[in-house]
This record gives sequence, C-alpha cells and structure tokens, in this order.
Amino acid sequence: MHDLRLGVLKFQRHVYPHKKALFQKLAKGQTPQALFITCADSRVEPSLIVQTDPGQLFVDRNPGNFIPPFHGENASEAAGIQYALDVLKIRNIVICGHTDCGAMKAVLDPESAEELRCVKKWLVNGKDARKRTMAKKLPKERQLQDVIERNVVVQMEHLRTYPSVSRALAAGELEIAGWVYDIEHGKVLEYHADTDEFRVLGR
Ligand SMILES: [Zn+2]
Repeated sequence: MHDLRLGVLKFQRHVYPHKKALFQKLAKGQTPQALFITCADSRVEPSLIVQTDPGQLFVDRNPGNFIPPFHGENASEAAGIQYALDVLKIRNIVICGHTDCGAMKAVLDPESAEELRCVKKWLVNGKDARKRTMAKKLPKERQLQDVIERNVVVQMEHLRTYPSVSRALAAGELEIAGWVYDIEHGKVLEYHADTDEFRVLGR
C-alpha cells in the first residue's frame, strides 16, 4: 500500500500539473470515443495500448473479458453498455482479450478452478469459446491462443443481444472491434469476420 500512496503523491506533483487544463475540462463531463471491454489482468493497460488520455476510454473490465448474453439480470454489464451507448453516445466498442490469459487457461482446464466457486461460476461464460476451440482438434500448444480468440468472437456475438447495441448497429451508428493484445510483442491482433481470423493490426 505504501507504494500506491507514493504513487498518488508522484501523480499530484509530476503528472497533474502538466495536464491541469485537461483535468479541469474533464471535471465538467466526459465524451469518451470508445467503450473498451477487457480482462482485469494487470498486464493489460488500455490507455497505454491505444495511447489515449483520461476521458477518451469508457472501460469495462472483468476476468476473461466476458459479456454475458443480455437477459436482464447481468446488471453491471447491461448498465455499463446502456450508459455508454444511450447516454454518452459512444459509437465504437472494442472487446480486447490478451495472451497468457488466466481466465482462458481455466476455461480450457475447468478442474484448475474447481475450488474457486465464484470464479468457476463466472467461467461458464467461456464455455461456447471452449466448445469451438475443442471442435478444431488442435494440438495442445495452440489451444490457448485459439480459445482466447474464439472467446472474443463469442463476446462480440453476446454484445449484439443488448438492445442498445442492436439498435445502434441497425442504425449504422456503431462499430464493434475484436482484439487480442499480445503482451510479449506489444502487438494487437484484430478480428476479420470475412475470413473468421485474427490478423496483426498494422498500417
Ligand atoms: Zn485475462
């Protein structure tokens, strides 16, 4: 905790003064350009990956970057999505998985989470991705990357079940991107629906 408190002081002394005007503007409201849904993993730093300032990303995080299908009970996700689209008028959504994802490892190996009741329950959201990966009969060393990618695709499908999302899509006012962040190489793979594959995002 000591390091975190020191971090606050460092922010106040060395970072805030340089961006004071931005923070004063943000104090009056936000107009983020994207809803960024990603894993809770400490290695995924959305504003670093896409090089944004405070106020530009509306972030929703959970272990596994899951968005359960809309059924009226998943209040946290539903509230975040509704607020982002209907109130903040956000027109871009990114779902971003990442390499070496612990949640995805547990999706592949459910017994590893057997003792963790809450985790086990949450990982149910990865069962469709697991099914799709297993159907490919890949060698074991390729399964993790594949389930990470398939999970992003499944969650993109789930997003479309939310009324705010389907409405905005029908009006041609929303773009949804599926990404996988490669921690080791600092790259992002982007999903291409036409070929059903992920390719390195480049110029
Ligand atoms: Zn993760």
